[in-house]
Amino acid sequence: VIEIQHLSKSFGTHEVLKDIDFSVNKGEVVCVIGSSGSGKSTLLRCINLLETPSGGQIIYQGENILDNKHNINSYRTKLGMVFQSFNLFNNFDVLTNCLVGQTKVLKRSKGEAEKVAMKYLKVVGMDRYVNAKPRQLSGGQKQRVAIARALSMEPDVMLFDEPTSALDPEMVGEVLKVMKELAETGLTMLIVTHEMEFAREVSDRVVFMDKGVIVEEGSPEQIFNNPQNERTKAFLKRTL
Ligand code: ATP
Ligand code: MG
Repeated sequence: VIEIQHLSKSFGTHEVLKDIDFSVNKGEVVCVIGSSGSGKSTLLRCINLLETPSGGQIIYQGENILDNKHNINSYRTKLGMVFQSFNLFNNFDVLTNCLVGQTKVLKRSKGEAEKVAMKYLKVVGMDRYVNAKPRQLSGGQKQRVAIARALSMEPDVMLFDEPTSALDPEMVGEVLKVMKELAETGLTMLIVTHEMEFAREVSDRVVFMDKGVIVEEGSPEQIFNNPQNERTKAFLKRTL
């Protein structure tokens, strides 16, 4: 679905991503793991153009979307993003949160948008909360609404940046469960996570990043049971 070639990103003189080659295939679940500061969020933010890459290419549907003439707005609507901090519209109720993007950006009618929103609110188990405001919800519920909102745009790829790391421990499970169910439906997902057990269970491929490079990638069995690189081994030893 997305292919990244020679991607680099610097903040001033600090090179945060160095010559990254990486792709996500249709129907694949890819988990990105690595220490704090290794560049995982920056990679996701470059993919959805919240950051402007310093160099390289992002190929989507055969075109480099970093070409000046490319329409990045239509590309952006093909990516669903779920952040650590939910980013819900706090003044809107749950249903409206799932409607605005659909009606404003995709120009869907209100009726159609509601149908789609309800479908995905059911998927995440939040269809009974349509009239609730975000402040009335727990962190886990908010994150499930954020997932439903992103799914309502029916993106080609869902990007998750540590979706459970701002949650109280007792709410992590309900969000991971929803994500696991989504993974089983064949949704294309790119997930930055510190949840190693989850990564092991749901990934088709695990990518280990360190200091701005992809050090190693492979199946969960390869990465967790038989890592080849010393940096991967050291990281897993610290975290598992
Ligand atoms: P974590 O696990 O803590 O979320 P990460 O792997 O997501 O870490 P990034 O957030 O991508 O790491 O950060 C990589 C490096 O880039 C860090 O050294 C960080 O300080 C730096 N960085 C990130 N965003 C910016 C920014 N907007 N301006 C300057 N430096 C930044
Ligand atoms: Mg991060």
